[in-house]
Amino acid sequence: MEINLVSFCEISRGESNILNRRRAQLIRPEIQALSAYHVPDADDFIKLDAMENPYSLPDELVRQWLAVLASVPLNRYPDPGAKQLRNRIRDYMEVPPGYEIILGNGSDELIQIIAMSVARAGQKIMAPDPGFVMYKMIATFVGMDYVGVSLKDDFSLDMPAMLEAIQKQQPAVIFLAFPNNPTGNLFAENDIVEILNAAEGLVVVDEAYHPFACTSFMNRLNDFDNLLVMRTVSKMGLAGLRLGILAGSEILLNEFDKVRLPYNINVLTQASALFALEHAAEFETQAACIREQREWLFDQLSALSDLDVYPSAANFILVRLKNGGADRVFDGLKKAGVLIKNLNAVGGMLAECLRITVGTAEENKIFLKALKNVL
Ligand SMILES: *Cc1c(COP(=O)(O)O)cnc(C)c1O
Repeated sequence: MEINLVSFCEISRGESNILNRRRAQLIRPEIQALSAYHVPDADDFIKLDAMENPYSLPDELVRQWLAVLASVPLNRYPDPGAKQLRNRIRDYMEVPPGYEIILGNGSDELIQIIAMSVARAGQKIMAPDPGFVMYKMIATFVGMDYVGVSLKDDFSLDMPAMLEAIQKQQPAVIFLAFPNNPTGNLFAENDIVEILNAAEGLVVVDEAYHPFACTSFMNRLNDFDNLLVMRTVSKMGLAGLRLGILAGSEILLNEFDKVRLPYNINVLTQASALFALEHAAEFETQAACIREQREWLFDQLSALSDLDVYPSAANFILVRLKNGGADRVFDGLKKAGVLIKNLNAVGGMLAECLRITVGTAEENKIFLKALKNVL
């Protein structure tokens, strides 16, 4: 009997695989053509690949945080509008009076909410290239066209090309990461202003790296009615929470809020973020350490003749191997227990480029030593 059952299951699994391969044709061709967002296994590595804050919280703060979590009612749905947290964030991030914020499950979800809200056939999302990969991926998810406009060789905005593309394509949304990922530089503020003036659609200034950049468009919301400013708590040290923030005109945010799933910010995230904001000074101290380490690492890398090192206002540094060998260097570092991001396969302007997230002083020293060994 058992043997029969097993073989019956196998036959039936084989048949259902055939059926599902056929059903997979229901999936839109552009989705079938995607490869899933890949995150490498990082167990036991010194992890300098994902722009995470390398510091954890002091034990005493962890104890207090756990006490807060213990009192969170898990049996209840979260506050759907996360009102208390939103008010606290609005103060902390100095959102100008008269402007609203909505929260996302990471800023990735906010990009998705914006895209879903404007998606219709033929509408476009535009961003400079190379840029943050999720803009393009999410455009594809929602069936929009993506228009990438190449940056100049120094990764500054190619303004004639940007303005021409805006004029010609009339994008519904332009995303400008400020500073840009994976290049690390801040675009010239004048250029962004020019884009804001030229665009009839929405312009999202994505300030994911705000704690390391020390500049912002938040205080300019009043100057441009098409401006939205996006932030996240991920890069400041709470990547595990998944919390993004979108600030802008109430008229626009009310529309986006209709697309947001009602309980997208769970109770643990709401309570933890409130706790973190009460202890914001701790995160600001950590960001200051990272900025200091970034300068140290920049100087050290710049002294190596094999590398072009690009200026960064973020918590990572992009380098290019002048004489090639990025894959070999990446593999060598991995063998030495250090995981960074290899961008060589992206090609184009990122050929032979590696991106290193700034770690603790100790991690950065270990990385540098390993790098010198493999160069
Ligand atoms: C990391 C990153 C994000 C994603 O942030 P999450 O809040 O973790 O989803 C958004 N934009 C840019 C430019 C990033 O580098």
